[in-house]
Amino acid sequence: MSSPLRYRHPWELLWGNINKDNVCVVGDALHPITPYIGQGGYATLEDGVVLARCLVGALLKEQSEETKGQGDREREEYKRIEMGLKIYAKERRWRSIELISTTYFVGFVQQGNGQVTTFLRDNILPAFLAGLLLKRADFDCGKLSIS
Ligand SMILES: Cc1cc2nc3c(=O)[nH]c(=O)nc-3n(C[C@H](O)[C@H](O)[C@H](O)COP(=O)(O)OP(=O)(O)OC[C@H]3O[C@@H](n4cnc5c(N)ncnc54)[C@H](O)[C@@H]3O)c2cc1C
Repeated sequence: MSSPLRYRHPWELLWGNINKDNVCVVGDALHPITPYIGQGGYATLEDGVVLARCLVGALLKEQSEETKGQGDREREEYKRIEMGLKIYAKERRWRSIELISTTYFVGFVQQGNGQVTTFLRDNILPAFLAGLLLKRADFDCGKLSIS
């Protein structure tokens, strides 16, 4: 049975799961971005960079001394992936909240047709909104190094 599509409100990310066991969400599944800021694609690339870095960091640590058999190794690997995903989730949570709060706010202002919203949108907010969009795009997710 398929689940219905559901919009994720920004505040749900404050306590919502990003990872569980050895699974995590990335891209639109993590930060569904309405068309108003056009940044969903590159935010997804940021997720990919951070996720790769976290997984590599967790998996490349030296195996513990007690890890001997195949079963032990697999269990340790599972734990490491889980740990890498926790770090990924921590790193991406606030960035995702920022992005979807911005798109939520911009959408609210763009779509509003009350007198106050219309006045603010047409006279006061354009410069602020443009600045906000540029600010959200100016983000450094760090590098991936190949060694
Ligand atoms: C009209 C439009 C304009 C946009 N413009 C911009 C822009 O200018 N700049 C920008 O940065 N972003 C833009 N975006 C947003 C951007 O396209 C998305 O944020 C980005 O593609 C999300 O990547 P994703 O990998 O999370 O999801 P997707 O790109 O949607 O990839 C999900 C993939 O999973 C597949 N899939 C789904 N269900 C299953 C399943 N059950 N089994 C196997 N595969 C499955 C789908 O077929 C799809 O290939 C735009 C989006 C739209 C719709």
